[in-house]
Amino acid sequence: MKAAPEIQRRLLDLQAVDTRVQQIDHARRTLPQHAALEEASTRLQEASDEVVRVETMLSDIGREATRAEGDVQQVRDRAVRDQQKLEAGTGMTSRDLTALQGELESLARRQSELEDIELEVMERQEAAQERLTEAGAAKEEASAQVARITGERDAALAELDAERTKVLAPREELVAGVEEPLLALYDRLRENSGGLAAAELLHGRCGGCRLELNPVDLTAIEKAAPDEVVRCEECGRILVRTGADTAA
Ligand SMILES: [Zn+2]
Repeated sequence: MKAAPEIQRRLLDLQAVDTRVQQIDHARRTLPQHAALEEASTRLQEASDEVVRVETMLSDIGREATRAEGDVQQVRDRAVRDQQKLEAGTGMTSRDLTALQGELESLARRQSELEDIELEVMERQEAAQERLTEAGAAKEEASAQVARITGERDAALAELDAERTKVLAPREELVAGVEEPLLALYDRLRENSGGLAAAELLHGRCGGCRLELNPVDLTAIEKAAPDEVVRCEECGRILVRTGADTAA
């Protein structure tokens, strides 16, 4: 394959553009914010789940509290009525009075038991309320973190996108001068050689695989016509002679 030396050298400029774009794309994919955002989103989800869980728990406890309160109130009301009857004392035999007093004592015990239950429910309610406050704070913090990291990620992406556009700007013009078969070879090599298709021959070394060329190959390359497109014997990449090579 043949190509004018300046076209071959242009391949190096094209390669520089493509390598930089490849680096930018890699940077886009591996931004630290991607992992950080995933982590923060997981934390946010967990905190949100906890809030829902505790809210459900609180609503259950709320119903329990209402019931416990009602139970206590019922016993209290009954005791008040008995007490009033006792104080009025009209039309009651001493046996009735004794029975009433017995009931009042039993109501007092029952009230005390129910108040213990009510207290226990209130304690659980308080603990759940505290847990909800904590979960709410954790959710808010995670949410703020998600927003902050998203902003950082978007800014980083915008910066990389702007650089990508800038780096790519001269590509069309660079490609325009390269003949189709050489460009096809370049593209194929780029695909198969980790993105690096054209490399400079410098100090007897291939700029692609970094291997030193053996003297026989090197002599053959040096003897080749300037418009001959030469390839590295080791890696197959296009070796561009820029005239900067001083090895002999
Ligand atoms: Zn090589």
